[in-house]
Amino acid sequence: MTSTPLRAAVIGVGYLGRFHARKYAAMEGVKLVAVADASRERAEALAQELGVEARDDYRTLLGEVDLVSVVTPTRTHFEVAAECLRAGVHVLLEKPMTVTVAEADGLVALAEARGVVLQVGHLKRFHPAIDALRRSGLLKTPRLMEGWRLAPFKGRALDVDVVLDLMIHDVDLVLDFAGAEVVEVEAMGGPVLTGDIDAAWARLKFANGSVAVLHASRAAMAARRELHLYQEDAAFEVDFIARQARVTRATGGRALLEGVEVTEVVRELLPVGSDDTLEAQIRDFRDAVLQNRPPRVDGRAGRHALAVTEEIRRRIHAFAVGVAPGRLPPMEPGA
Ligand code: NAD
Repeated sequence: MTSTPLRAAVIGVGYLGRFHARKYAAMEGVKLVAVADASRERAEALAQELGVEARDDYRTLLGEVDLVSVVTPTRTHFEVAAECLRAGVHVLLEKPMTVTVAEADGLVALAEARGVVLQVGHLKRFHPAIDALRRSGLLKTPRLMEGWRLAPFKGRALDVDVVLDLMIHDVDLVLDFAGAEVVEVEAMGGPVLTGDIDAAWARLKFANGSVAVLHASRAAMAARRELHLYQEDAAFEVDFIARQARVTRATGGRALLEGVEVTEVVRELLPVGSDDTLEAQIRDFRDAVLQNRPPRVDGRAGRHALAVTEEIRRRIHAFAVGVAPGRLPPMEPGA
């Protein structure tokens, strides 16, 4: 670890940003110097708790910090992140990266031109149950992936629809697991509570033949966050809430079941670590900056998930009945 800690700040300390700030404040190799929020009161309350400076204009931080987390509402991501990248500051940008793919392209180009790290906050990649699958040595290329990200209505993140807010987590995961381009998108969904897309279903087909079916809702009775993966010799079930990873697999042997010889099958819980997901994500960001290497989820990965999400939304707009046009986020920059 370097003897001079990296100077960090968090921009936007609402619901999620304060957790980012607390992680930096406790992390080795990083010194949280300030928190910024358009609401001065909010910034001051957290700054007092953590013993750092409060700012209401994040631009006053540029030149004083090495890295920032941008945790402002999604519609502000492009403007805030672009200012930081232009100033040569490394950026961990919350998901969804931006509202439009054109904006995401702009940020990727800026980060590459300035030679700084741009990481996108696809937190689930760092989830210990996802790590458990990867570490198991059992996972090959899943042929079928099915995801559920269902949440009761919380009245938050309503500046974007449920595809951009929730489904994008699973889009990012299945792109990573499939490791192939999406060649076909089918999607349905529509408004339930807000006039914008509150419930959605999508089917993605990949160039290698794999298929993903994703469900997302912010109008559910109860939370359900699961991803199931199937390959020729095993089925994996990840439960993000229970922090469990389960596998049912054929051993290659034969077994007797009620006198009949069948494929021998084992069902087991994979060992899941106790790592804090947000801390693991921020640690990867810190190390990418220190080691001058790409982060696990870089700007291009964030852009990829966003592009697929945009196609899903486009299909839903074509399908949806009753979505108030004024409520839909723009599909093109400035629209
Ligand atoms: P929030 O509304 O609770 O907080 C946003 C904060 O940003 C507010 O305090 C607001 O005053 C401040 N802000 C707005 N514009 C600003 C600006 N220009 N400069 C400085 N501060 C500004 O929102 P939230 O729920 O914390 O979500 C923030 C972002 O985090 C969203 O993009 C959301 O999608 C993302 N998020 C990601 C996850 C995840 O699992 N990775 C979970 C929740 C939220």
